[in-house]
This record gives sequence, C-alpha cells and structure tokens, in this order.
Amino acid sequence: MIKKLVIANRGEIALRILRACRDLGIATVAVHSEPDRELIHVLLADESVCIGPAASADSYLNIPAILSAAEVTNADAVHPGYGFLSENATFANCVEEADLVFVGPRGDTIDLMGDKIAAIKLMSELGVPCVPGSGGPIDDNNSRNQTIAADIGYPVLIKAAGGGGGRGMRVVEKAGELAVAIATTRAEAAANFANDVIYMEKYLGNPRHIEFQVLADGQGNAIHLGERDCSIQRRHQKVLEEAPALGIDDETRQRMGELCVSVCEKLKYRGAGTFEFLFENGEFYFIEMNTRVQVEHPVTEAITGIDIIKEQLKIAAGEPLTYQQQDIEFRGHAIECRINAEDPDSFLPSPGRVLHYHAPGGPGVRMDSHLYSGYTVPPNYDSMIGKLIVHSEDRPGAVRRMKAALGEMIVDGITCNIALHERILADSRFTDGEVSIHFLDQ
Ligand code: ADP
Repeated sequence: MIKKLVIANRGEIALRILRACRDLGIATVAVHSEPDRELIHVLLADESVCIGPAASADSYLNIPAILSAAEVTNADAVHPGYGFLSENATFANCVEEADLVFVGPRGDTIDLMGDKIAAIKLMSELGVPCVPGSGGPIDDNNSRNQTIAADIGYPVLIKAAGGGGGRGMRVVEKAGELAVAIATTRAEAAANFANDVIYMEKYLGNPRHIEFQVLADGQGNAIHLGERDCSIQRRHQKVLEEAPALGIDDETRQRMGELCVSVCEKLKYRGAGTFEFLFENGEFYFIEMNTRVQVEHPVTEAITGIDIIKEQLKIAAGEPLTYQQQDIEFRGHAIECRINAEDPDSFLPSPGRVLHYHAPGGPGVRMDSHLYSGYTVPPNYDSMIGKLIVHSEDRPGAVRRMKAALGEMIVDGITCNIALHERILADSRFTDGEVSIHFLDQ
C-alpha cells in the first residue's frame, strides 16, 4: 500500500483525499500556495509544504515544486484531484519517472483522452455512439468547412480539441457565421489551451448530459458504477448533479455501462474515469472522457456505497479491483448542489472572510467543504466552496431532503449561490424531470 501521499490540490477535494488517506492509514503531505496556509486540509495534514505564490501557474501547476515537496517529505505517491494537473500527461509521467505512484491513468491514456478528436475517433472505432461531426480536425478552408457543416446540418458547434471546463466552444447557427466562428474559436483555443486544433460537431438542440462512472485496475478488469445526470449547467459548467438519471431503465444502464467497461478493458485503463454523453430522444452520443475523479463523484458514492477515492488509491497501489460488477447495487436517489462563492443572480464571484459557517446535517446529508468560521476565501481560485449531497429512497425524497439541508446551511460574510439551488429545486420542470442542458439559460 501507499505509505505517504502528496495531495496536489486544494479546497474540498484536498480535504476529501485527506479523509480517504486517513481511512486507509496513509500519511499525508499537503502542498499549498502562500494564501492557502489556512486551508483546513493543510492544518490537518501530517506535513505541509508551501510550493509557491497565489498564482496557480507558480504553485498548483508548478511540477518541479510539487515533485521537490514529494522528495523532501519522502512521499511515495501523488493524488492530483481534479482540475490543475489532474489531466496533464507530462505531470503523470514526471511523477512516475521520479519513482512515485501517480493516482490516475498512465500518461499515454491521459494524452489520448485529452485530445477530444483522438478520443472520439477511438470511441467510434470501438462501437461507442458519438455526436455526428467532422470526424477530425478542421482547417481554415472555408468552402470545405461549409460542406462539412451543411452535411452535419445547422446549428453546428465548433470545439477545441484540447478544451475543458466548458470553454472553447462556439455555436454556429448559419453558413454566413461559420468562417468567423472558426477563426475566433481557433484563436481562443491557441491562447487558452496552447493547442489551436478545432473540430466541428452537430449542436444538439435539447439534450441531457448523462455520464457513466468507471473503475478499472490497469490490468484489464473494469466495472461501472452507473450514471449521473449533470444537465443543470451554466456556461457548460455543472451546477447540480444527480444519480440515477431519470428515465434510464436497468437494461439501458447495463448496455451503456458494459460499453464503457469494454473500452476500459481494451485500453487496460487504470483508475477512476468518466464517459460523458449527451442523451437526446433516447439516443446516447459520446462527447469526451475524463481521466480523473470528478467533482460530482459523491452522488455515485451515495447510491452505490463505494468510496471512489479509496478505490483510486487501492488501484494506484496495484491492488486488483475490490468489487465485481455483480456486487454493485444501486440504492435510492442522490443529488449534489455545488455551493459557489458567487451571487445567485449575477454570478459575480464573492471571495472574502467567512464570518460564520454552519453546515447542514442529519441522515443522508453529506457536506464536502473546506469552509470554517473565520476562513477567508481567496480570490485566486475557482469559486466552488463546497458540495452538499443528499441521499434518500427516491427522487422526491432527495429533493425534500436537499431543500431542508439548504435551509439549514449558513454562510455569513460572503455571498453564495444557495438561493439559486432553492429556485431550481422549486421549479416544477426540474421536479417533473423535464430539463435539458439549456434549463438554466432558459
Ligand atoms: P468540457 O471538456 O469543456 O467540459 P464537453 O465536451 O464535456 O466540454 O462539453 C461540456 C458541455 O457542453 C456539455 O455538457 C454540453 O452541455 C455542452 N455540449 C458539448 N458538446 C455539445 C453538442 N455537440 N451539442 C450540444 N451541447 C454540447
């Protein structure tokens, strides 16, 4: 087993990883930026090392600093969490070259899935349904692009092959807008992702976002943990997630789950991963695979009883999978609300000092948050300050439990988006299950 692990992240996920390590008897090293000295997991970790100033580029993305921290503390493994370096193949390779365990897939797998065009190509070869599209990169030849778009049918979506975080995509409604949209998306992709490769996809009008969680041991064994519905989004970023997804019957879950598992087996995939699909008119369309743990993993933990982070750590240590597919049972319904330090109407970020914090509790209520009274949310990072997850026997029960939990929660001193979640949960279109990825925009 791993003896000492570097937590190469911050905030709620760093705390979540620390807790999993404690469960498994693994010592922890928190690496943090200067303003993050007061983070709860830094205070709780067995050791901590400051790796640089506030700017992520100089701290949480600083590979040499993280590796040095691992060396001086004699750690033997690194967990990258999500975001930051979690899908950076160079980082994964550097960690392994330093004779440390990387808690995640091999670098070549990260590279493959990080290139959305390569991922889509591989998935269609393996029989996974994908969104109709250019099937490869597009260049700046307008007449060729016009033909591709006309064949796909408007509206189309121009996407960056290296995009992420909901950025790097642009909808094109008609032929006259195509050339400009391609040029703009390419320029943005080059600036944001250091990769100007772009491709074209059918822009689906009213899909839901449904994704499948997998665990695989790197030796050809894999299982799936069912699906999550992440359709409640703002600017292509998830706001509220739930599991299971409404209207997915056992047979469909099994068919799609087995398809994802078969890809993992063929790739000898290692670790936790997520296959993301759009789901429209009863059909699934693959959009991308995430090769890391996801923010919304707790809804799957709630309905399966499996600790995904602990499984990641065991897999990384070379242990075979603890579970077989027939061991996985889905029980009840879970919802997660992402709590962000931002205005619920304008979405303007609201960093600052938390004067008073009170977390909700009770049966079936889980609060994953690094907040405490007196903590100051720095302005330098993502605005997510926690996740509230509830589990109940059915969806109406989970909605009631979430409403009650949101009502118990107090975050004074900064503004957060609790009121937005309350509005979503009170909306009959949400409770009736009539939502698509456009629900929040509408
Ligand atoms: P990222 O890596 O930035 O998260 P994804 O490819 O996962 O990008 O897409 C994020 C979201 O963007 C999806 O959940 C969906 O809301 C929207 N989206 C992506 N592709 C399409 C498409 N072809 N049609 C409609 N919406 C899409």
